[in-house]
Amino acid sequence: MITKIEFLDKDKPNKEVLKKAGEVIYAGGLVAFPTETVYGLGANALDGEAVKKIFIAKGRPQDNPLIVHVADYNIDYLVKEIPPIAKKLMEKFWPGPLTLIMKKSSEVSEVTSAGLDTIGIRMPLNPVANILIKEAKVPIAAPSANISGRPSPTDIERCIEDLKGKIEYIIGGEKCGVGLESTIVDCTIEPPCVLRPGGVTLEMLREIDDRIYIDPAIMKKPEKDFKPKAPGMKYRHYAPKAPVKIISGDLKKSVAKINEIVQNYIDVDKKVGIMATDETKNQYSNAVIKSLGSRNDLYSVGKNLFEVLREFDDEKVDVILSEAFEEKGMGVAIMNRLKKSAGFDIVES
Ligand code: AMP
Ligand code: MG
Repeated sequence: MITKIEFLDKDKPNKEVLKKAGEVIYAGGLVAFPTETVYGLGANALDGEAVKKIFIAKGRPQDNPLIVHVADYNIDYLVKEIPPIAKKLMEKFWPGPLTLIMKKSSEVSEVTSAGLDTIGIRMPLNPVANILIKEAKVPIAAPSANISGRPSPTDIERCIEDLKGKIEYIIGGEKCGVGLESTIVDCTIEPPCVLRPGGVTLEMLREIDDRIYIDPAIMKKPEKDFKPKAPGMKYRHYAPKAPVKIISGDLKKSVAKINEIVQNYIDVDKKVGIMATDETKNQYSNAVIKSLGSRNDLYSVGKNLFEVLREFDDEKVDVILSEAFEEKGMGVAIMNRLKKSAGFDIVES
């Protein structure tokens, strides 16, 4: 398949391109598009045959449901009911990086929900995504626009790398502002529960309802036979080709431990990548060293994380050693993705 690639200016997107891309979605085709979280791979959420193509293009397991993206607040036709807490969260955080799980209506294809009786819905903030959904005239089911298992794409080049030749359209150009997937809150249970941490932090959610909590299972290594509430959580995720190891504990000790581990790898001729921060990057040597940003600005760390993981693949390192972050605020989402990319391989310093 020939993939059309169109670069767009987020603040002045070419409406003709978005109209054509919208028509492709409406007709049952696939379009990769930018959102403020990561790039999405979209299809008509109401059309099971179209949504099946997403699973094929990504190599995504069939039991992993997709998030439905909308451009207006009228979502009554997609759900059985809107719980009052969901309404409050929509009003506060939409458009933005927050997905709400509700009971689905029969309008939404079973393929989209992977057979569940619930769906996740979100209204993206990026104007390109917003106009695309409006032009498509249907809600868009979209997971991240990467080959399943790989780090999610936060710029158009990474979408092209993974999906060129497999889908009709790739549009965008801007780097994603948040860089991590949306926060997912299950609003079908009381109190509501965070199934995936993201750009809307627990602290922010608790301003609306202080009973909201994070499912404790998601920050731990999954047990055998573990059945997570968000099916996607059981799969290896966000993983570059090289194995990732997280070195946790006091920062000074972590730096020393990382330097010690680097030496061990060098002794056996291995090329090491280090995910450092602005505060520590000058304390390492004999490795490919990349900073995620300053520890005082966890939003930029989140924004850079997936891209840096992919850059280590480009560098063909044999192993990636990463510093850890405190699990507070955005640090929760960052550590969730890091732990999954490392398959929970954590070394105490
Ligand atoms: P992705 O967009 O690739 O990050 O994948 C979407 C994520 O949302 C997956 O991890 C799913 O498990 C989760 N998700 C989507 N719909 C539901 C749902 N109805 N219930 C629970 N989790 C969901
Ligand atoms: Mg994904």
